[in-house]
Amino acid sequence: MVVIMHVDMDSFFASIEQRDRPELKGKPVIVGGLRDSKRGVVSTCSYEARKYGVHSAMPIAQAVKLCPQGIFLPGDHSKYAAVSQEIRQVFYEFSPVVENTSIDEAFLDMTGCEHLYDTFEDFGKAIKRHIYETVSLTASVGIAPNKFVAKLASDYRKPDGLVIVRPSEVKDWLAPMPVNKVWGIGEKTAKALSTWRIHTIADLRRCSQRSLLQRFGKQGHDLYLLARGIDPRPVEPETEAKSIGRETTFSIDLTELSRLRQVLANLVADVGMRLRQQSLWGRTVTIKLRYSDFTTITRSISLPEPINNDDDIFAAADKLLQQHIQKRPLRLLGVYLSQLTSVSQASLFPDSRRDKLTELIDELNTRYDRAVIYKGRQLGPRKSNHEKGST
Ligand SMILES: [Mg+2]
Repeated sequence: MVVIMHVDMDSFFASIEQRDRPELKGKPVIVGGLRDSKRGVVSTCSYEARKYGVHSAMPIAQAVKLCPQGIFLPGDHSKYAAVSQEIRQVFYEFSPVVENTSIDEAFLDMTGCEHLYDTFEDFGKAIKRHIYETVSLTASVGIAPNKFVAKLASDYRKPDGLVIVRPSEVKDWLAPMPVNKVWGIGEKTAKALSTWRIHTIADLRRCSQRSLLQRFGKQGHDLYLLARGIDPRPVEPETEAKSIGRETTFSIDLTELSRLRQVLANLVADVGMRLRQQSLWGRTVTIKLRYSDFTTITRSISLPEPINNDDDIFAAADKLLQQHIQKRPLRLLGVYLSQLTSVSQASLFPDSRRDKLTELIDELNTRYDRAVIYKGRQLGPRKSNHEKGST
């Protein structure tokens, strides 16, 4: 059974300001621009300000009219980003599969973690408590069988809410919701639907798939499924780096395969450690070869599973090297991992012996800030300074 959690911080920027300046507690705080700001728009406002009808994306000038006693702040984005980072660390303590959809919102795939807590309530309470203990801010949490329902659930009892929608409850829970809660239904579509007397999700459910397809094209199919609480989209963890790699230019061109394999092993050790430091796995291994005449080729292999272990990376890179190397002097060798993800099946089973050994090597190499432990394949007949590193 799929279990998705959506976490959404409550009036994030305004709450941070109220946290840091206690004199703002209980006051209508509006972040987005100073009172006299001509072009500013509200990025967040406290719940006290919402009572006056102020909401995000509203021009500051309009917010001033609605709530003249409001406290208007320009906002401190770097501070908010730092708090966001702290919260993201909490997410990763609960699940390795996190999709940060904005500075204060994320989906967590909790599938397979159910056994950690007795009930979903305990789960939700635990993450809320953990966030509060870390940053002294409240979050609203929704737990449901898919992203669509989880997001609606987190929004349902804001602020400081916790709403759990079990698979058997999804259809009834969605039924009375207005159609504009369905992803992909904007104001225009909602208006069009209302001329068909479709106002709620239950109404939408009465439309046949054919009529939705005729009216909305491909999107009609999504609407048909979402109305029934079906949303197969996976939680997609994003990674910032597109690839992680290292290449080295030799001071003397190399031809001997055994020597190249040793250089490759050293490059792999570096790349592997950087992947693991960032909790990343890569599915595509690429080698780069540049010959003395500067012709450069890259060759890649994509694996069925993402990897970040030196042995696995070396096996793939070495295979590519042996397949593609030509018998002429090489001046540069590089290895890259791409199609990066922060998810791996392996991360759910962290205690294999090989991973323990890798962890130990990384820890020592990190502690001494240089490679103090080598694998045999990295060692040559004698220590050589043929390579100079570059990234
Ligand atoms: Mg929020």
